Parts: sequence; structure tokens; C-alpha cells
Amino acid sequence: MNIDIITALPSLLESPFNDSILKRALERKIVNLKIHNLRDYSLNKQKSIDDYAFGGGAGMVLSIEPIFRCIESLKKKINYDEVIYMSPDGELLNQSISNQLSLKKNIIILCGHYKGVDERVRENLITKEISIGNYVLSGGELPAAILCDSIIRLIPGVLNDESSALSDSFQDNLIAPPVYTRPANFNNWLVPKILRSGDSKAIDEWRHEKSIERTKQKRPDLLK
Ligand code: SAH
Repeated sequence: MNIDIITALPSLLESPFNDSILKRALERKIVNLKIHNLRDYSLNKQKSIDDYAFGGGAGMVLSIEPIFRCIESLKKKINYDEVIYMSPDGELLNQSISNQLSLKKNIIILCGHYKGVDERVRENLITKEISIGNYVLSGGELPAAILCDSIIRLIPGVLNDESSALSDSFQDNLIAPPVYTRPANFNNWLVPKILRSGDSKAIDEWRHEKSIERTKQKRPDLLK
């Protein structure tokens, strides 16, 4: 999978991909991630990428030219399945969106900044808008990292045990069951006996029951 992220602040995207599961996915070349600095696509001497909003008001707006030039140059090399803009008014990210995107081959993710991007970018260049929640952040970089993490861990070969992602919360609209590790007795707080029984069928059933119980308790909306 090719993921191309376009950003005004590339350094914000360094650390999320430098550890653990995402790092491994890049090292194994399961994902080819490239981060593009919007400033490299600015044509003016100052390398500016933003400007005042027409009509006035507080806050700068990312200009269309560098974004257009960057997306066009990427599209010359690859056909993209989606050009995604991270936006607080986009479709709310959920597991089903991540599952669908994990099946794509090539995606571009555009991070906004300041007041956002010139609306003509959204009207003409973007195929999908995604929000990570009903709150406003300073830039699209952290949302883009969250989106990438949720997608990349689903790609076969990224997690060491592929069944792991399928047993996580929200797959099948259920919350994951509780998990425990050694020691079996800590402070007299005990691990449920059944998990130490070695009876894998009984354990599966217990986990499924717990998933349903938890979902009813914590997220009844998922069962509707
Ligand atoms: N003026 C805009 C907010 C701009 S915030 C508004 O009121 O809708 C600056 C940038 O941060 C946005 O362009 C977007 O790329 C990113 N961003 C902020 N909050 C986000 C969220 N909840 N989900 C996804 N992206 C977000």
C-alpha cells in the first residue's frame, strides 16, 4: 500500500511511524509511506503556503496552488483510490471506514492547518473527508497519524498474529473481552479460572459472552 501524506509540518509526523507496529510495517515494506512538505511545492521565494482569508476574519488559510501542485505531481506517478482530507466536519472515523481503507492500494492524505484549506481544494481535489472526533485540533497531522495507524495494523503481515486485529473492539460491533497476563494472583486479585483451564473452546465461549456483556454495559448503541 502507498500512503502519501501532504503536510505543512512534516516533523509532526515523524515519531508516530518510528516505533512498534507502524515502524515494522514500513520496514517490512508492507506500507510505503511518504511525507510531502507542502513548502516544497510553493512557487514563491518565501516558500509561503498560506494567505489571509477573503472577506477578512482571524486565521490563515492554506492556499490552493501548492496543494494542487503536490497532488498533481503525485498523480502523475500513481493512480490514487482516494484523496482524503482530514477535517473536523468530515465523516466520523470508525472501524468500518478503517477496514475499507485498509483494502485500498494507494491513498493521499492531506493535512489542513490554521483555519483549514481553500474550499476549492475540497470541491475539486478531495474524494473523501474524515474527522477523528467532534473537537478541533491545530492541524491534520495527528488525525492523519491516527487514521494511518488504524488502517495499517489491519493489513495482513503487519501484526505478528493476524487474528489479533479481528478480535479487537468494534470488529463485529462488539467491545473486546478483558485480557490478563501473569502473575495469576496479584494482591489476591485473581485471573478468572477459566482462562487458565487450557480448554480453548470454553475460553472462546467465555470471551464471546464477556464481549456481549461489556458491549451491553459500555456501548449499548453498538448492538442496535
Ligand atoms: N476552521 C476549521 C478548523 C481548522 S483546524 C473548522 O472550524 O472546521 C485545522 C486543521 O486541523 C483542519 O484543516 C484539519 O485538517 C485538522 N483537524 C482539526 N480537527 C480535526 C478533527 N477533529 N479531525 C480531523 N482533522 C482535524
